[in-house]
Amino acid sequence: MFHFFRRERAKVVYSSDYIYGLPTAGDHQTFDLMKYKKIKDQLVKEKVLKRYNILRPDLCPYEDLKLVHTEAYLKSLQDPLHVSKLLRLTDVDLLYNSILEYYRAVTGGTLLATAYALKWNVPTFNLGGGYHHAHPDKAEGFCLINDVAIAIQKFRNLHRVQRFMIIDLDYHQGNGNLLFFKDDPDVYTFSMHADCWVEIDRDHNKDILLSSGIKDDEYMLILKRELTNTCRFFKPEAVFYIAGSDPYEKDTLADMKISRKGMLERNLYVFAKVRKHKIPLIILAGGGYGKHSWEIYYDFISYCLKNNLSSIKINDDEFLY
Ligand SMILES: [Zn+2]
Repeated sequence: MFHFFRRERAKVVYSSDYIYGLPTAGDHQTFDLMKYKKIKDQLVKEKVLKRYNILRPDLCPYEDLKLVHTEAYLKSLQDPLHVSKLLRLTDVDLLYNSILEYYRAVTGGTLLATAYALKWNVPTFNLGGGYHHAHPDKAEGFCLINDVAIAIQKFRNLHRVQRFMIIDLDYHQGNGNLLFFKDDPDVYTFSMHADCWVEIDRDHNKDILLSSGIKDDEYMLILKRELTNTCRFFKPEAVFYIAGSDPYEKDTLADMKISRKGMLERNLYVFAKVRKHKIPLIILAGGGYGKHSWEIYYDFISYCLKNNLSSIKINDDEFLY
């Protein structure tokens, strides 16, 4: 069965603050610091994205950070030595202001993307975000601030939307989100990964451990089957998609074997699956390492800006939803 959609456009959130503040030395070096600027520049160069059409976020206000994080933890992020240890930096200087500013900028981007997607029901990409390992009182895996949890808490408080699904296809498990929402039946966390950080089994999560080295066909089969099963009984009012690029075969940190074509197929499948029912969709970059990583998120956004999104088809014959 093929599903067709009416014409729709997508939006992109980006700020030049996204490239300031990130340190250039340390364990994270395989992360291409310029990848989101590269994506934005390429889209602008090809004239598929107009500069004036880019949504520019403000820094996430301190009050919003407190929706998820403890005061003591936020205070600890003001100590440059502490932050340097968290990020395993080899160069310690007074970087903390700019590092925290970087996370506040990208979190502000996730908030803006969420506001836009909810108000206009237009799929909205943040050129960054998806810090799914961060906890209320501690950082993990280079994630200092949990942008998705903050966005969910903020828009719930505004009584806009109560029921969310987080679809997380980063190579690494979204353990921060899983733990934060573990007692919350209105937030479903769906994560497919080869790197599991915590094991929890509740009614409102699905954690699927994949073998490393998995290839396109098997990956897509599992994704279609599991996501279709999940969508059968959990009906979200909005979806966050953490579209991590690290399952890509050229990723320098991870070891899955998904081709560039397979990554686009995966991303478009999730897109079409959510938009089939016109559910507001917020898309975040998640992880992805090495100099080819930018191509994956670029392909996804580029496709969504160049094509009539109502023409994206998914074949769910075997997984009727
Ligand atoms: Zn990752």
